[in-house]
Amino acid sequence: MLGAHVITDPEVAAPHATDWTGRFTGDPPAVLRPGNVDEVAAVVDIARHHHVALVAQGGNTGLVGGATPVDGEVVVDLRRLDAITDVDPIGGQLTAGAGASIAAVQAAAGAAGWAYGVDLAARDTATVGGSVATDAGGLRFVRHGSTRRQLLGVEAVLGNGSVIRHLPLVAKDNTGYDLAALLCGSEGTLGLITAARLLLVATPGPIATALVGFATTTDAVVAASALRRALPGLEAVELMLAAGIELVRQTTGLAAPLAGDAPVVLLVEASAADAPEALLADAVGGLTGVLDAAVAVDGPRRAQLWRYREDHTTAINGLGPPHKFDVTLPAGELAAFIDSVPALVAAEAPAAHTWLFGHAADGNIHVNVTGLPAADERVADLVLSRVAALGGSISAEHGIGRAKRRWLHLAQAPADLAAMRAVKAALDPAGICNPAVLLSLPPPSRPT
Ligand SMILES: Cc1cc2nc3c(=O)[nH]c(=O)nc-3n(C[C@H](O)[C@H](O)[C@H](O)COP(=O)(O)OP(=O)(O)OC[C@H]3O[C@@H](n4cnc5c(N)ncnc54)[C@H](O)[C@@H]3O)c2cc1C
Repeated sequence: MLGAHVITDPEVAAPHATDWTGRFTGDPPAVLRPGNVDEVAAVVDIARHHHVALVAQGGNTGLVGGATPVDGEVVVDLRRLDAITDVDPIGGQLTAGAGASIAAVQAAAGAAGWAYGVDLAARDTATVGGSVATDAGGLRFVRHGSTRRQLLGVEAVLGNGSVIRHLPLVAKDNTGYDLAALLCGSEGTLGLITAARLLLVATPGPIATALVGFATTTDAVVAASALRRALPGLEAVELMLAAGIELVRQTTGLAAPLAGDAPVVLLVEASAADAPEALLADAVGGLTGVLDAAVAVDGPRRAQLWRYREDHTTAINGLGPPHKFDVTLPAGELAAFIDSVPALVAAEAPAAHTWLFGHAADGNIHVNVTGLPAADERVADLVLSRVAALGGSISAEHGIGRAKRRWLHLAQAPADLAAMRAVKAALDPAGICNPAVLLSLPPPSRPT
């Protein structure tokens, strides 16, 4: 059926066998590359009848080991389903195949006079299917919300073999259970998404970008809140610490971004119909604890300011596979949490190093710990338990995957978990869809 699109040579399959961080790896018996929804349905049918576990894979940029065939699952690579169709320049919508990259969606939206509300540093590789399956948040969450908010409908092959297709041409559609929302964030455990209908957003006006240095984390966190109120066109507020910026500088050769030595730096971006730089400078002028600021309006300079933030993930990965804890804290707890985490980690693992950066306006901080063996979960226990005790979420935007499945009970009550298992059992009764991820179920029992 799939012919040349069945890969069994381990060397050719290798890019599909290990996750982006290098922490999770497996040995898939095959990688299948279907080219349309009928071929995906045929793959699911065979897997159901032969009790074979499948791992859906898009760009393989996920950061929680959710797309990695650690237990010998068959990988289903959906990137050949990359068509973008039914672009509606009047309604501001389009349909994207699961394999289309986020950058391709952004380009198609731009060509139609709109923009796509989700953006992330992995935009050239991450796919629509992966971003829906993880409910990706990203750099514009403060403005447009996560992928769920852009999602009008999906086409998918469920684990039970049925093909659901609800790709409405209208934005308002209140016709029963929202299956697209259910699949959004399901991490490939309910079925394989083959296409999504996406709502587009207005193209922002002229944009200004600033780096703003602060004396303390509290000043920066309070500033993120003040900026949300002061700037209706606020596009992004990203937080970095001096150590992370220094690491990025060492790996990229970038110059120091600000004149002084600010311990905490916010990247702030705002759009306005007229003179966004004046508006941004004015808002920054009203903040407390600002040590220094640099504002840019021209494209190349703005792109350079973004590199200090966007290159964090790659620079940290260069130190060896990190343990990644992508968490959200209630606004009132965020600054103290950021300040206390390095000592918390050091007390348990003195040789480890903690790196912190994130989406400040969303209360979302990425805690990255390097220098720990891949299987060492002591720090995960500490950090995730602390987050839960403070009323936060153990996954802001990356999902649970394999990395956090042991701690799902910290985020979901027993009745909620039971409801999730019931949904899983209804839509994937044979348990073939990513069984090890999220709910951590046993693999489908193979015939003896
Ligand atoms: C440099 C970098 C920056 C990042 N920044 C962000 C960020 O700002 N915000 C953010 O949210 N994430 C971020 N990520 C994480 C990652 O890019 C996102 O989770 C992205 O949505 C994953 O897309 P993907 O196509 O690579 O999915 P994959 O990694 O291939 O898969 C991720 C999960 O989705 C499932 N899946 C994939 N495709 C399908 C499908 N078609 N149907 C059903 N299930 C599927 C997989 O089984 C797996 O569980 C970043 C990653 C990197 C490397």
